Amino acid sequence: MTAPPAGQALIRVYGDLNDFLPLRMRETWFARPCRGCETVKNLIETCGVPHPEIGALFINGRPVDFDELVQPGDAIEAFPIAAAPEPHIPLRPPLIDTRFVLDTHLGRLAAYLRMLGYDCLYRNDAHDAELARLAHDEQRILLTRDLGLLKRSTVIYGAFVREVIPTRQIVEVMRRFNLAPAPTVFQRCMRCNSLTAPVSKVEIDHLLEPKTRQYFDTFRRCPVCGKIYWQGSHYNRMQALLERAVREGERREVTGGKVEH
Ligand SMILES: [Zn+2]
Repeated sequence: MTAPPAGQALIRVYGDLNDFLPLRMRETWFARPCRGCETVKNLIETCGVPHPEIGALFINGRPVDFDELVQPGDAIEAFPIAAAPEPHIPLRPPLIDTRFVLDTHLGRLAAYLRMLGYDCLYRNDAHDAELARLAHDEQRILLTRDLGLLKRSTVIYGAFVREVIPTRQIVEVMRRFNLAPAPTVFQRCMRCNSLTAPVSKVEIDHLLEPKTRQYFDTFRRCPVCGKIYWQGSHYNRMQALLERAVREGERREVTGGKVEH
């Protein structure tokens, strides 16, 4: 690392925070103009890294929080949540519950997370302001593919979903948040997020297709939207997908790269 030009600060980001930078700025120190009145949060965010992805910040090797002012000549380091060195200053309070709110592009991912048993708010007509408000007011993790939404100052917990294919997105999210199936796995309505309840076959017999009636005896029903669930081929496919996701998550956890400091 060489000294920065006058009136500039040096910045380096680690691990998958590099995903947000232009290629020439990845895995290396780079200089940014700095007047002494910018917070470290703003300076890093103007480089492209959304603040909810950051797990630890250091200036000249000293742990700092988001509001620290950067001075010309400072050397800033930003680490992702999964690779935050200790000791560091926590940038947000610990989450009490793992609950999510997803943007309008992530409907299949929301369904998969619900299947895993996680409380996920999702509507395909939700506006950005509403999503940011829900994430803030209900202390939910915002999952999004919209960087502008993730950079909103009210968002505390959040992640940019890198993958575009839903079956890969669920693996990515399980790995990132270290998720195992919740106690309510296969007990949450994929359509509306409510917890389903057992229902007797007699009670719903008139609603079943002949083959379903013939082959299945155990059912659950959503008390809100009425959707009926049983352990059919869909269930088996989904179970196989989730088992694969858990395995892949564990494998990547073991082999995942560590960043230097
Ligand atoms: Zn429902």
